Amino acid sequence: MQIETAALTGATAGTRREVTLYRYGACGAGRKVYLQAGLHADEMPGVLVLQHLMALLDEAEKRGQILGEVLVVPAANPIGLSQWAYQRPLGRHEADSMRNFNRGYPELANLVGDRLEGVLTGSETENLHLIRTAFRASLAEICIRDDRAEQMAALMNWSCDADYVLDLHCDQVAVLYLYASHARPQDRDLLGRSIGARLTLIEDVSGGHPFDEAHTVPWAALRARYGDRFPIPAGCFSATLEYRGQLDVADDLAGADAGNLMTFLAAIGVVAGWDGVAAHPQALERPLAGTARIFAPQGGVVTWALPVGAEVQAGQVLGHVTDPVSRRRVAVVSPVAGLLFRREMWRSCLRGQSLAHVAGEKPVRSGDLLSD
Ligand SMILES: [Zn+2]
Repeated sequence: MQIETAALTGATAGTRREVTLYRYGACGAGRKVYLQAGLHADEMPGVLVLQHLMALLDEAEKRGQILGEVLVVPAANPIGLSQWAYQRPLGRHEADSMRNFNRGYPELANLVGDRLEGVLTGSETENLHLIRTAFRASLAEICIRDDRAEQMAALMNWSCDADYVLDLHCDQVAVLYLYASHARPQDRDLLGRSIGARLTLIEDVSGGHPFDEAHTVPWAALRARYGDRFPIPAGCFSATLEYRGQLDVADDLAGADAGNLMTFLAAIGVVAGWDGVAAHPQALERPLAGTARIFAPQGGVVTWALPVGAEVQAGQVLGHVTDPVSRRRVAVVSPVAGLLFRREMWRSCLRGQSLAHVAGEKPVRSGDLLSD
């Protein structure tokens, strides 16, 4: 295993940070998998999972069982890790701009521009390498204005040519679920059955340019542009893994989750000698546009009648919001039938705030589908 760092210049005098990468396996040997956690720097479940995963990878490496390349960034957002206010981690948003740390990633196909004209061939394998070379070259030319952009570029430099990109996050209170695109459904199914995801939310372009889509959208865009002339593969399988809720941070849970990730790595041929099998039930697959938001009907105290993971009917009462002054108690109902897969952690709310999501079968939303 080798440790690499990418220095962030520093936003102001006397400050300096770096992002750290653990690289297992030999460069260019077999398939390349990139994993990171903590891009939202207040989300510790995935960070702990990668700690346990690296212990397993250390052992596999000692036994010579790393067949491909596994890159692990255990704390993807050192800027966010240091940003606290009012005795709480800000984590999800940059303190200065209030921009979400998982938005605004570069569109590699746009950055590549015309540089693949006259370069692509009739070989899909050759094109895979040519496109990745173009990705790396175009990333090297992007304008870095601040630490945030430098951090994004550091992560993308490590991940842009990977066969698999897994970005570990968590929700507030949630089941284990993931986001993925329509590309490479067999990998999506295998990942879900390996990690025990209850739900997979599928969308190709959800808006906001999150990290996972920065690795799938360009391949689809290049296929749209060149696909009638040249074979363009879906060169990367990418997913955002939501490891339950903010408070689901425990070594036994994370240890089991790390073992399940090893099962996935073994199933795609990146590690050997691991005997776990992808035996979890297939995750429920739902369109991201089918996730209905449940809004607070008034400000007050939030109480829940059902746990996350409950299958609910349209019109079913999920909980209540009580105005403590008027003593008015208003039911919160689901607008659709589906899986109550997530809710907010706070027990107080403002009128109109989003309180929970139910994953239904049919699209009910359009436009920007991600919560900021
Ligand atoms: Zn997150």
